[in-house]
Amino acid sequence: MTPSRSPMAEGIDWTLECLACGSTSTAEGLPTVCSCGQPWLVRYPKRRPGIMQRAEVRRRHGMWRFREFLPLRPFEEPVSLGEGDTPLIRLRRTATRLGVPHLWLKDEGINPTGSFKARGLSAAITRATAAGMRRFTLPTAGNAGVAASAYAARAGAEVKVFAPDTTPRTILSQIEAFGGELVLSRGHIGDCGKASRAWAAESGAFDLSTLREPYRIEGKKTLGLELALQLAWKMPDVILYPTGGGTGLIGMWKAFLELKEHGWVEGDLPRFYSVQSTGCAPIVRAFEAGADHAEEWNDPWTVASGLRVPGPLGDRLMLRALRETNGGAVAVEDGVLTEAAVTVSREEGVDVSPEGGAALAALEWLVGRGLVDRGETIVVFNTGAGWLYRQPGELRAER
Ligand SMILES: *Cc1c(COP(=O)(O)O)cnc(C)c1O
Repeated sequence: MTPSRSPMAEGIDWTLECLACGSTSTAEGLPTVCSCGQPWLVRYPKRRPGIMQRAEVRRRHGMWRFREFLPLRPFEEPVSLGEGDTPLIRLRRTATRLGVPHLWLKDEGINPTGSFKARGLSAAITRATAAGMRRFTLPTAGNAGVAASAYAARAGAEVKVFAPDTTPRTILSQIEAFGGELVLSRGHIGDCGKASRAWAAESGAFDLSTLREPYRIEGKKTLGLELALQLAWKMPDVILYPTGGGTGLIGMWKAFLELKEHGWVEGDLPRFYSVQSTGCAPIVRAFEAGADHAEEWNDPWTVASGLRVPGPLGDRLMLRALRETNGGAVAVEDGVLTEAAVTVSREEGVDVSPEGGAALAALEWLVGRGLVDRGETIVVFNTGAGWLYRQPGELRAER
């Protein structure tokens, strides 16, 4: 007799791998992290996405157009709000000002809930609800809480969101608008994580924290898949990414490696640059020190709330991605990143968030040091919409 698999595992043809200790596992049930404490990465069967599907992918819509690269069983419907398909915008005036003609901005503020967090939470909530889970919890610097609230509502589930009380007010009100139960904390996202894990242990709610389950990163992987599609199956030379928990960087790194493995793209991976605020720059400090992991940053503070992650769980994977792609890490002061966001919003009509401003300011820094070349194709990520960080103010009426 062949051993029977549980009905829940039916069609799950992917497995899990830990790059830190080399362990592997099936993906049945609700996987969290490896027993060594490091994140699981999803591995798909070799033959899954054939080269024939490259043309087919073009005819579909949204991030789930890449379903052959994603944790979705045949005939399964994802929990979706139309995430993905965000514009890749040519920045002409900014390009002229900075002297780098081939400059693009991937505007993730166009996603449902106003940030790229929609991608990760669509994937994570799809898998967790498929496994029968209806109660969630997560710590957030802001935008993940908005996305978790919206996707939980979409799935008919509940979520308790732990956020710092310094989170921009508009973001907090969006969490409540989608029915997320909001708990404010005096501390930073690390403190919120402790409270969220305690609540998970007490209530049985499933913890959706960055990299504490393997599927948010799979959703974020579509940042890289989509970019390759938009550039006609070419990879750019340089990517600047504002980094907090690191799923965007790690996800894109994984995306390009998988695309190469399946022959959908060829050549060298882009040089990845991680961009942080000087008020919270654990990855920049670790990169500069040549370390393989990051020490926690004390008293983290930045107006770019998505970057206020003092001790990310993905530190080792991020540092590896930066080194293996010959990239780097840049820290930018809050005043400089805010100004860059304002300048480019006015110059190009794109609603740049403080995090996106950080990436644009870092580009200026790299250009100034000759670390990017005029001929190179550069992609800067605006990870969220600027309006989420603004409070409605009084406007003067014109008579
Ligand atoms: C979460 C967030 C980030 C950080 O992203 P990671 O992929 O977790 O490093 C950057 N920008 C914005 C707007 C965010 O919400």
